[in-house]
Amino acid sequence: METIKSKFENITEQLNQINPGIQVIAVTKQVGNERTQEAVDAGIIHLGENRPAGLLQKREAIHASVDWHFIGNLQTRKVKDIINEIDFLHSLDRLSLAKEIQKRAEKAVRCFVQVNVSGEESKSGVPAEEAVEFVRSLADFDKIQVIGLMTMAPISEDEGLIRQVFSGLKKLQMEIAEKAWDHAPCTECSMGMSGDYIIAAEEGASYVRIGTALVGTESEVEG
Ligand SMILES: *Cc1c(COP(=O)(O)O)cnc(C)c1O
Repeated sequence: METIKSKFENITEQLNQINPGIQVIAVTKQVGNERTQEAVDAGIIHLGENRPAGLLQKREAIHASVDWHFIGNLQTRKVKDIINEIDFLHSLDRLSLAKEIQKRAEKAVRCFVQVNVSGEESKSGVPAEEAVEFVRSLADFDKIQVIGLMTMAPISEDEGLIRQVFSGLKKLQMEIAEKAWDHAPCTECSMGMSGDYIIAAEEGASYVRIGTALVGTESEVEG
């Protein structure tokens, strides 16, 4: 059986050939504590969860010096539960959320602004054409540090389409970085999941978020 450690090594080797220094976030939302611990023991230092309850539960169970990434939609009323428990937020997508973070965070939070590059109605995120203005408007919030942008590609067999979405995010990220705003260095791109992380790396991802292909899924754990 292929272990998490060997999968991690294979993925890291693949990614490093494309873009050395790229960071792998193990998305553990579909696995229990045991596999999460196995991931940590394999040398993984970034863990991602998409629900507040899941994040808090894993944080409680896993004793290791890792960075905790919140990658899911964050309801405003849940901000207070997790904002001081995470190291990175990948889903900042509206002003009301920024205001609540400003109110609840004890120190500046490293955030990715989520952008809906594909324009699919089902996807959350700031529309691409509003992203620059949205990031500009975050200057008023000293508890928010915009370190980059995040997106999700459409579920599609069309590699060209996926590539277009990732390159669109990279372009926006560089456009914002060039402005050199104090509150928004915006040097990072969080993009790529199990099915498309290679394409994401080729298009300039600095963080990939990998669940199924790295830690697998356990049916008894809620997705
Ligand atoms: C679940 C999830 C992932 C990982 O998905 P896999 O296809 O299992 O790799 C990445 N990003 C977000 C936002 C997710 O919700």
